[in-house]
Amino acid sequence: MKYGRVFNFSAGPAMMPEPVLEEIRDEMMNYRGSGMCVMEMSHRSKVYQQIIDEAEQDLRDLMGIPDNYKVLFIQGGATLQFSMIPMNLMKNGKAVYIETGAWSKKAIAEAKKVGEVIVAASSKDKNYTYIPDCSDLDIPEDTDYVYICENETIHGVTWSKLPNTKGHILVSDQSSMFLSKPCNVSDYGLIYAGVQKNVGPAGMVVVIIREDLIRDDLTDLPIYLQYKTHADNGSMYNTPNCWAIYCCGKVFKYLKSLGGLKEMEKINIDKAKVFYDFLDQSKMFKGTVVPQDRSLMNIPFVTESAELDAEVVAATKAAGYDNLKGHKSVGGLRASIYNAMPKEGVVALVEFLKKFEAEHK
Ligand SMILES: *Cc1c(COP(=O)(O)O)cnc(C)c1O
Repeated sequence: MKYGRVFNFSAGPAMMPEPVLEEIRDEMMNYRGSGMCVMEMSHRSKVYQQIIDEAEQDLRDLMGIPDNYKVLFIQGGATLQFSMIPMNLMKNGKAVYIETGAWSKKAIAEAKKVGEVIVAASSKDKNYTYIPDCSDLDIPEDTDYVYICENETIHGVTWSKLPNTKGHILVSDQSSMFLSKPCNVSDYGLIYAGVQKNVGPAGMVVVIIREDLIRDDLTDLPIYLQYKTHADNGSMYNTPNCWAIYCCGKVFKYLKSLGGLKEMEKINIDKAKVFYDFLDQSKMFKGTVVPQDRSLMNIPFVTESAELDAEVVAATKAAGYDNLKGHKSVGGLRASIYNAMPKEGVVALVEFLKKFEAEHK
């Protein structure tokens, strides 16, 4: 790796594409003749308006976002959406949630503060190592929406087939799989993603919301928590996270230049296969998720003991493979291999783990 950089397997904030970081570096002191850095720019300036407009357009191109969906850049990370979603979308005060891991659990806890939450399916019985069958859920007629976390960053499970919502609006947390594969936006009422996993720097969430779900009767809600505020003001009701929008815009362009989301999916499948193939033949390391629901982005795995797990974390870190420690809530190890992780990083880590295994027989 150039610049003494390491292969960083962090779950987020995570690696960004090197060509993007280099471009940002080159524009740092003087953005395209403006005489200033993007960090120093008024968000009301013409030059910045072009940055945010292009970022939105490039994202629309990448995902094929239909015209009747708004794209919003909001602060507060993905976490604020746990609250904003029920506050804005619960008209009847009722929503169905599917519990598949730590992040959907957090969303459920917040939604319960706003209205009635029906957990229609859960994989808690097996410690969130699979996606429950959601082809025929019991969904009350007056449910406002059905909520899923499409890729559970901590537990490493992903939805390969969306739930049957029986005509209700689908809401999805795509934080840790955003832009990792093609997405048919019209299957959803609302998609959101904290960008620090698969796109850019922390501190911002992208919300893609169908226009008719944006309400203007929520005047009692704090102004910043209404989607309408952000939609009516081009994500600039107040000062947005200008820097994150700029960096994300660069990543959107970069993904387009690589061939778009179909190409990303191919690359990601190929990359994850290297790791899963290794886990499936290893006697020391074992994947924790059932094969058909395995994430392409976050791969949790374990050895036979916590002591050995810790030894592996230390050895990999010393060898230039950083952040392989599993989340504190589940232990073990986890390799996060988002869009920006090169295949060579995964291949090199697998070679290292094979060698480690051979030496510790
Ligand atoms: C990281 C993460 C979040 C929380 O993101 P913040 O930006 O830190 O609030 C929510 N959902 C998922 C799936 C995540 O991976």
